[in-house]
Amino acid sequence: ELILAIESSCDETSVAVIENGDQILTNIVASQINSHKRFGGVVPEVASRHHVEQITLCIEEALQEANVTPEELTAVAVTYGPGLVGSLLIGISAAKAFAWAHQLPLIPVNHMAGHIYAARLVKPLEFPLMALLVSGGHTELVYMAEDGSFEIIGETRDDAAGEAYDKVGRVLGLSYPSGKEIDELAHKGEDTYHFPRAMLKEDNFDFSFSGLKSSFINLVHNAQQREEPLVRENLAASFQASVIEVLVEKTVRACKTYPVKQLVVAGGVAANVGLRAAMEEAMAERLPDVELIVPPLRLCGDNAAMIGAAAHVELALGNLATYELNANPSLVFQTM
Ligand code: ATP
Ligand code: MG
Ligand code: FE
Repeated sequence: ELILAIESSCDETSVAVIENGDQILTNIVASQINSHKRFGGVVPEVASRHHVEQITLCIEEALQEANVTPEELTAVAVTYGPGLVGSLLIGISAAKAFAWAHQLPLIPVNHMAGHIYAARLVKPLEFPLMALLVSGGHTELVYMAEDGSFEIIGETRDDAAGEAYDKVGRVLGLSYPSGKEIDELAHKGEDTYHFPRAMLKEDNFDFSFSGLKSSFINLVHNAQQREEPLVRENLAASFQASVIEVLVEKTVRACKTYPVKQLVVAGGVAANVGLRAAMEEAMAERLPDVELIVPPLRLCGDNAAMIGAAAHVELALGNLATYELNANPSLVFQTM
């Protein structure tokens, strides 16, 4: 089985060829970050234009690199939400055209299911499992009783973790997206500012990051007004310590409450070196029988390989799309 997968939900144009749902023949990611940096965020109109320019080239390059002809493909998969509507539509149109031209089945994929199924490219998944999804737009704990079944047991009440990283980064004068840079700064500093740990004591699996973001911004502004010195490394370390402690603690509790065999940590923020280390340590110490899977860095951020991995499951479950497939910018989890 060979699946051509297309991802264009935000600011990465990506095309992959995946064999049997777990082998990456190629995974091309064309990032537009440099075009969005000067605006301090992703500009939807600019993103769509870039996708239009890149998508055909990426498809051709992927097939060439994988050494696969369209005739050898089993199906075409595409992200149809959540994401920016204009960006999603470029990928969907390209996928439909390709599927029609080569008479291939079309597989619709939820971007967030893709983030979770990135773990499938590392190891076979065993159910039930818990997934901590931490990305630019989402922070949620998802319980999966079996393949294709998603139950959100907790989520952020306000900002996503990645969003908080990016907003705090702006105050530190870092360019967008700033998660990686804050992560690096944090490793050179210490938790001297002791920001609050939101919702840590509450008996649920929800998160909140906007209070932390406000505390951070107020502290920086007050210090600037009084012309007091700030230690950037310590600010980053203190912010990161608060985010990580809450994420780890609530995830461990979730894994103790539900009968899970594995924990998957996925999404752009799963690339965080501090989070990966803290989660590994906590799970080894407190839940040694639960296997932790964190995809390699290149599979944490947006990419089409993860869409191909999820598509393999969709195909096995018989979930195909018609040419009526439309973008769904606010798509939520549904049972596949
Ligand atoms: P979603 O997946 O929710 O639709 P998205 O696709 O825009 O949103 P991703 O591409 O999955 O988000 O992740 C991007 C986010 O990950 C950004 O907010 C970025 O700052 C953050 N990020 C990337 N690397 C790191 C890191 N090392 N530490 C913390 N955050 C990081
Ligand atoms: Mg992105
Ligand atoms: Fe994403």
